[in-house]
Amino acid sequence: MTELTILKERVLRDGKCLPGGILKVDGFINHQMDPQLMMAIGQHFAQLFKDSGANKILTIEASGIAPAITMGLAMNLPVVYVKKKKPSTMGSAYVTSVHSFTKDRDYTVSVSREFLSPSDRVVIIDDFLAFGNAARGMIDLIQQAGAQIMGLGFVIEKTFQEGGKWLREQGYHVESLVQVTSLDNCEIKLL
Ligand code: 5GP
Repeated sequence: MTELTILKERVLRDGKCLPGGILKVDGFINHQMDPQLMMAIGQHFAQLFKDSGANKILTIEASGIAPAITMGLAMNLPVVYVKKKKPSTMGSAYVTSVHSFTKDRDYTVSVSREFLSPSDRVVIIDDFLAFGNAARGMIDLIQQAGAQIMGLGFVIEKTFQEGGKWLREQGYHVESLVQVTSLDNCEIKLL
């Protein structure tokens, strides 16, 4: 059985749907984590983006960090994560706002100017793609730095929430390992 099949089976077996089109996968991605599965996810992303020309991976805390770090390990690339609170120790930063629909609030997120520069070629990684707000925020930060976006990878894409449609229409190289097409009536449907 391939690792991707295992991931899909885990989503179907252990995923729970919450009201408002939210999928809870905190038994193996969002709270408790399965390191072996995370390694396989990182290796899969590395394979998908091997020809992207990326020199850096960007994600957002907290749940993007695990897949980004295993991908970074597989590709031998540094991983930078966007912070949801600007620490007092952070010097000059790129800053933007991201709307979280799972928490129904806006976050001011930031990344230090030290770790994104015009010479960077960046792949964005996150756990979920829903409406694309987190991705849009990361794209904004990369553009503020004058760096290049080489692609975006998501562990789970909810195709009915259209972030992926928008990103692909913009011409970005988008990859998602599992595509959830519906959570209607609390039934998880995968592509
Ligand atoms: P978007 O910004 O694309 O609307 O949503 C992506 C972000 O919101 C991800 O960083 C993820 O943390 C969170 N998210 C969106 N949808 C879900 C979901 O169904 N389940 C979980 N656990 N997180 C989600």
